[in-house]
Amino acid sequence: MNAAGVLAEVGEERAVVIGNGPVGQTAALLLARWGVPVLVLDQRPARDLVGSKAICQQRDVLDVWAAVGAGARIAAEGVTWTTARTFHRGTELFSVTFADAGRSRFPPFVNLSQSRTEQILDECVAAQPLIETRWGCRVTRLAQDAEGVTLTCADGPELRAAYVLACPGARCDGMREHLGVTFEGRSFDDRFLICDIRTDLPGWATERRFHFDPEWNPGRQVLVHPCPDSTFRIDWQVPPGYDLDAERASGALDRRIRTVIGDRPYELVWSSVYRFHSRCADRMRVGRVLLAGDAAHLMAPFGARGLNSGVADAENAAWKIAFVLRGWAPEQLLESYHDERHAAARENLAITGATMDFLVPQDAAAAAHRRDVLARAADDPAARALVDSGRLAEPFWYVDSPLTTPSPAHPFPGRPPGGAVPPAGPGVLVPDAPVSGYECSSTRIHSRPPGRFRELARDGFLLLATPGADLDAVRAASVPAPVRVCELAAIDETGALAAALDARPGEVWVVRPDAHVAAVLERPTAEAIEAALGRAVGAVP
Ligand SMILES: Cc1cc2nc3c(=O)[nH]c(=O)nc-3n(C[C@H](O)[C@H](O)[C@H](O)COP(=O)(O)OP(=O)(O)OC[C@H]3O[C@@H](n4cnc5c(N)ncnc54)[C@H](O)[C@@H]3O)c2cc1C
Repeated sequence: MNAAGVLAEVGEERAVVIGNGPVGQTAALLLARWGVPVLVLDQRPARDLVGSKAICQQRDVLDVWAAVGAGARIAAEGVTWTTARTFHRGTELFSVTFADAGRSRFPPFVNLSQSRTEQILDECVAAQPLIETRWGCRVTRLAQDAEGVTLTCADGPELRAAYVLACPGARCDGMREHLGVTFEGRSFDDRFLICDIRTDLPGWATERRFHFDPEWNPGRQVLVHPCPDSTFRIDWQVPPGYDLDAERASGALDRRIRTVIGDRPYELVWSSVYRFHSRCADRMRVGRVLLAGDAAHLMAPFGARGLNSGVADAENAAWKIAFVLRGWAPEQLLESYHDERHAAARENLAITGATMDFLVPQDAAAAAHRRDVLARAADDPAARALVDSGRLAEPFWYVDSPLTTPSPAHPFPGRPPGGAVPPAGPGVLVPDAPVSGYECSSTRIHSRPPGRFRELARDGFLLLATPGADLDAVRAASVPAPVRVCELAAIDETGALAAALDARPGEVWVVRPDAHVAAVLERPTAEAIEAALGRAVGAVP
């Protein structure tokens, strides 16, 4: 039986998820995976599959979705792309490919419309008996006491929950105010016209193409992303005051599209105009309420960090709520949700904010800088390095988290270059690799057929012992949470995992239930392992 199975047997406490967008769906599925009964509330009358919004799903997020049965389907239906190219006036400046930390089962990026992703997640929710979804339920009030949260819904009954994961999207000023949370930041004046166009563009189907100042949009930029079903997402930067309806009526939209795709036939599948914002909640935890997704951080989509980071919020929150509910971790663990995910949001906003400063210069000096950098970029590597067409989504590193025990042998070298991944070590998401059938021992004993290392990691806390580690000490370490012990040599027949981890003899790797490394301990005693586990469940103040 896996840890989720163990969880399903204990406790009947309920969590409520507010918002049935992709972050709320993911949160509900992950909570249910931990055996927590979940009620999902959404103010809309039903799922309305309007618009397209997010298309670009990152490899590590597909892994999270794989844990709830959706990742492989999303990857199979989506378009895989591996290269991001940046052009200036038709000349290619550089391209980025994406490193794999280990031997992942998923490609670096898969493009699939957000609405299709939501449908697939809905099907997973429908198959999960621990989740109940109620549409047409607008939460208007949250009152907390020592035992739980009382939710008031417009025109509905009061509801109780032990914990609430609030994922109501960006437009929830009332709820943030009610929780005493601010949402400071800025909004950008320029608009972005986004059209999904079905056509054939030979050679463009597996690449992201970013054009600065193309002849078809002088002084601004155009981004082209491949999508399934011969569809391309074309994203034009347009001036403030741009009128899509007027352009459609005058035929200018058709001319605009034709400048990019030429005379070939096309179908306009969807179009919309967006204004982008850069904002962050000052608190992501208020007592028993955790704020996740766009409700907590809103960023421009160049870098695909919105939904991708919202899914990471959901995963971080879900295991922590489950562990606290089950009595496996102190309430203090929930505060680490704010510590870790607020730091992640600030990093994402710093990165996407820098991109927007380059794309949408805020003053004459910034505009002159952009012109100068782009003019020199074709011949000058120093100028090329300053061209910012968006750094694509990546997992955040919980290096400075109170849950992380640093390791002198595996220090974090800082933010890696775009497309690269940091070496495995404390705070970092473990690399994935195939693992052979295995038997793990300790608090829970179970065996599994061959699979993936991240599947094993996501089953609870994992102690991974390299050859030479004192196994008696590893087995003797005990905390109230489910912990499994595995010997690296027993699961890693090919050596791929040891190489990806750069694991050394005598080490014990402590891996969290969200597959991030909590500690790498060198020839540890049972007490040292218990200390690292205790810190990782928030038991160390
Ligand atoms: C043009 C565009 C392109 C994008 N591209 C990407 C991309 O490629 N990759 C990426 O990662 N991200 C991308 N994003 C961002 C991504 O779309 C968002 O981050 C994502 O939708 C956030 O999901 P969410 O679940 O937090 O919020 P939402 O999708 O907004 O869902 C919130 C839900 O909460 C419900 N709700 C609100 N208030 C209440 C209430 N009081 N009571 C009950 N229910 C309530 C709403 O009805 C809604 O269903 C893009 C965004 C845009 C605009």
